[in-house]
Amino acid sequence: MTAMNEEQTTEFSTASERSAVPEPDAVPERTVAPEGRPAPQDVASDSHRPEPPPDPEPRPEPEPAPFPDAAARLAALRSRLDEACRRAGRPLGSVTLVAVSKYRSRDAVTAALDAGQRDFAESRVQEARVKWPQLRARHPGVRLHLVGPLRTDRTTAAVLGFDALHSIDRTPLAAALAAAMTRTGRRPDCYVHVDTGGTAQRGGVPLDGADAFLKECREVYGLPVVGLMCLPPAGQDPRPHFRVLRSLAAAHGLAGLSMGVSDDFEAAVAEGATVIRVGRALFGPRPRRPRDRTDAGPDGTGGTDRPDPRPPA
Ligand SMILES: *Cc1c(COP(=O)(O)O)cnc(C)c1O
Repeated sequence: MTAMNEEQTTEFSTASERSAVPEPDAVPERTVAPEGRPAPQDVASDSHRPEPPPDPEPRPEPEPAPFPDAAARLAALRSRLDEACRRAGRPLGSVTLVAVSKYRSRDAVTAALDAGQRDFAESRVQEARVKWPQLRARHPGVRLHLVGPLRTDRTTAAVLGFDALHSIDRTPLAAALAAAMTRTGRRPDCYVHVDTGGTAQRGGVPLDGADAFLKECREVYGLPVVGLMCLPPAGQDPRPHFRVLRSLAAAHGLAGLSMGVSDDFEAAVAEGATVIRVGRALFGPRPRRPRDRTDAGPDGTGGTDRPDPRPPA
């Protein structure tokens, strides 16, 4: 698989969105550690799994999407969630609604914050670093979740900037996170991403390696693993995937189940989700990624642990 293919498929999007979005070039983060150089643990290469591609530098925010009905949309979503809990015989409030705010303007996020939403998710460390410090300062009690693929050279920024990480899926990443937690003293909740579909399209540890990987995360690296996450392949009935995840979590004594998006969160709640990650059903159709080919940097490699295999644009 080429880096371009991986970039195109590891980030969650519908098939139609995937075909509509041009493949951008990525620019690596410049600073990876407070000391201004990568820590040794961060530069270990991953011999088993390819690294997710680097995040681009954030571009200026697009025009703020109008979001005048934030309170009404949030209330409607919450009542659907309550109804799903009732139908499943689960207590109201037993599922955390995470608003996926990737690519959304600060104005759209502020409207949701003003309506009372406090759990948000971003898919890129860099986007969150630009967008959230100000928002957090103004709105106490925010919990920020990372739902996108995470590179080993972003782990310091990730543990500093996020309260929960939903995409832990390989040994070098677990090792780098453990080192970053030791360095920073921060221990965000960790979810192991399991590739229940076996497609390797969207990242995730393969199902047949999940037992060993979970044990390694907890016993070797001491990560605060609170649960599992999955993202069923597009176009498939998600329920069997949710069930597999649930039984795996039960086998490991894990209470957290991060599963369910706009299109399938009610099914996920019926299957035991404790965290749902909802973007479009709250904010409306997903905007294009805020980047394009002109994002290509002067070189494709600076500060990263692997050279970018793609030719310069
Ligand atoms: C974007 C994203 C979501 C939100 O999906 P919607 O269809 O907008 O609800 C959830 N989980 C992950 C991992 C994502 O990347």
